[in-house]
Amino acid sequence: MQVFNFSAGPAVLPKEVLQRAADEMLDWHGSGMSVMEMSHRGPEFISIAEKAEADLRRLLSIGDDYEVLFLQGGAIGENAFVPMNLLGQKKVIDFVNTGEWSKKSIKEAKKYAQVNVAASSEDRSFTYVPARETWRLSADAAYVHVCSNETIGGVEYHFTPDTGAVPLVADMSSQILSRPVDVSKYGVIYGGAQKNVGPAGLTLVIVRRDLLDRALPITPSAFHWKEQAEADSMLNTPPTYSIYVAGLVFDWLLAAGGLAAIEQKNIEKSRLLYDAIDGSGGYYVNPVAKADRSRMNVPFRLRDESLDGAFLKGAQARGLLQLKGHRSVGGMRASIYNAMPIEGVRALVDYMKEFARSHG
Ligand SMILES: *Cc1c(COP(=O)(O)O)cnc(C)c1O
Repeated sequence: MQVFNFSAGPAVLPKEVLQRAADEMLDWHGSGMSVMEMSHRGPEFISIAEKAEADLRRLLSIGDDYEVLFLQGGAIGENAFVPMNLLGQKKVIDFVNTGEWSKKSIKEAKKYAQVNVAASSEDRSFTYVPARETWRLSADAAYVHVCSNETIGGVEYHFTPDTGAVPLVADMSSQILSRPVDVSKYGVIYGGAQKNVGPAGLTLVIVRRDLLDRALPITPSAFHWKEQAEADSMLNTPPTYSIYVAGLVFDWLLAAGGLAAIEQKNIEKSRLLYDAIDGSGGYYVNPVAKADRSRMNVPFRLRDESLDGAFLKGAQARGLLQLKGHRSVGGMRASIYNAMPIEGVRALVDYMKEFARSHG
């Protein structure tokens, strides 16, 4: 049966990428080795890592004044490593709180710094992005932190906030590579790979070079951006297989026309799903302000929650997988990352309409 996987992460990967990884599993390019078996310091893997970095730089038009790091530890790890690497002599970090992932970042940062919540959408259950004009930034913050796409709440920034001379730092775990982004407006972009980039285990950190001198002395070497930059992310053993598969995803994106092309597809897919929700006469509900809705993660509730089980069971039977919402919010969530074909969204929308008709 054809299945469509709506998992929030680890998430669907392009079929072509999985096929190529399978073809190359036992013997990468005539080397006689699987990528998993290669030394990270050997010429084969170094060529894989260099190509992956070059392709990522091309996709995002990353300038030479930025380092691209392939690390471990995930975005939750970076919640600690970002403050460690950026605090320098400063004491305060400004945060914008738009939901569950912002809250996690704030909680972790409080171990290392004073946190100022410059803006929050908690007053309306995290269903919008506070307008930039309402942010109350500190005079002397080390940086301003945002979560550019709240994977659980389904709230996305569709603008890049201006923070002046204070570096803007974004957790882009579930947004990166879904659309073009002007990297030069950010001090740091970070994210776990397992949403839209590749397998779990790889963490991307894109950092402006002039910010590399601010690490606290306690920063562990494996997560010390300057030390890792000087070692080409090979101060410790990097997540080699995840980097390889991410590289195949970068190839796939470049062949598909890059991020402007994939953005058009993501707009089309998310519109199809939101139109079905909004057109259901309240049978399905997404609570997020229309201007701030996520193109990647679409949470929705059934008007009658007692039908949740039946909805999920019927979806599963049709090969529509992993639609259960996050345990903290319940309901449903359809994650429709780059690798979700529009046919998957059409199949979901058809099922939603049919379910509403038969369970009126
Ligand atoms: C998934 C996710 C995380 C957590 O990433 P880990 O790799 O589990 O550390 C953090 N932030 C956002 C926005 C996410 O979507």
